[in-house]
Amino acid sequence: MPPEFLQTLWKSSRARSQMANEDHGYNSPSQLWRCKLCPGSVNLLRSIVHPEKDDSGEETGSIPAVLGTWKHDITPQMYRGEELDPPPALIAGIVTDKDYEDVEWVVSRIREIVASLPSNAFILWEHQMDLSGLGIDGGKHGCRADVLIIVPAVLVVVIDMKYGFKWVAGPRCNPQFQGYGWGGMEEFGGDKVWAHKLQPALPENLRHLQYTFESEEMQRVEGEIKGIIDATNDPEAPLCRGDHCIFCCKLECPQWRDTFLAIPKHLAFYEHLNRLDPIERGSMLDKLKAAQGWVDKAIKALIAWGYENRDGSECGIDGFEISLGRSSNDWGNPVKARKAIREIMVERNKKLRAQGKPEIEYRNLVDAPIPAMPRSSYQVFKKLGRAKWVLEILEPMIVSTPGQEGVHRKKND
Ligand code: SF4
Repeated sequence: MPPEFLQTLWKSSRARSQMANEDHGYNSPSQLWRCKLCPGSVNLLRSIVHPEKDDSGEETGSIPAVLGTWKHDITPQMYRGEELDPPPALIAGIVTDKDYEDVEWVVSRIREIVASLPSNAFILWEHQMDLSGLGIDGGKHGCRADVLIIVPAVLVVVIDMKYGFKWVAGPRCNPQFQGYGWGGMEEFGGDKVWAHKLQPALPENLRHLQYTFESEEMQRVEGEIKGIIDATNDPEAPLCRGDHCIFCCKLECPQWRDTFLAIPKHLAFYEHLNRLDPIERGSMLDKLKAAQGWVDKAIKALIAWGYENRDGSECGIDGFEISLGRSSNDWGNPVKARKAIREIMVERNKKLRAQGKPEIEYRNLVDAPIPAMPRSSYQVFKKLGRAKWVLEILEPMIVSTPGQEGVHRKKND
């Protein structure tokens, strides 16, 4: 019998992937992000046999999923000034004023957007869309945008409400918004899409992200989404583990299981290695090295991106800025510096010897191996002292190299 926490994890993972499969299809707009990053996930999801649904009438699903669904349901009710559905029994005890405030905030943003549009704009909630032209199959639930606002033949506004805590990519690079925008234009015409992500749980500056797609950009988007779907239909599509795994079938996924879950957390890692055979150890090291290489590459790409897209001290990466790196003190010429250090040491030792005190040892002023480099100026001054004549000899040799401009963590973070 697995421990209780594993059962809970299993249930919520199964509940999420089951919902993804049976209700929302394998490649619906809300899952395009995962399809894009892990094309093989669709084949894997298709291959999973799901347990029969519970027909006892009891509510099933994880608490966050039920809470999110209920907030989605009451948003249009609050917008229209109707009586709100009470929270389902599963979450009745945990709903707080903050949950209602989150919905109020979303409603107020939707009202602002509507107020900024011409008077012939109309709003559609949970509008069913046909995205088969993109190769998207919406499953039983169909493809439904949370909110569509149509200015006929002019503009399609797509609003998606994210009531979870987990960061979700904004409209500019998230194919979910692009897919709904494409569907809206197919149905109602217009030549641009104004997309909004409303996520009240995030900090103020990230709660409302928006982006406008002009018509040429929407043509590019169409090709991109078709490409994502084509990649998922390849029987050899790779499984690519990442942040997007959170809403996927992690427990059934060999990629997820083999990479890090293969390292048990309750054992000392060294002890664990004793129990593996050489092939398993080789495979583990291979994977970890590949992951390490990928991480280095990703960090370099991020830093280069931030630097190339800088705007003054802003680099477009939260928590980081363009600034000068740490300055460093190098000894200008190690050969000269070593010679000067030795001469000063000899002088200082003459006095120390006369006073009967322990002498300074050369090996404490330089670093092995040979040819030795002088130690840091701080360490050398600590040993030789800061007499005026010592400073006059050594200070000109200390060259301060200013730090390089680049993407660095913000000082106050
Ligand atoms: S758990 Fe991650 S790696 Fe596995 S199929 Fe899902 S998205 Fe891909």
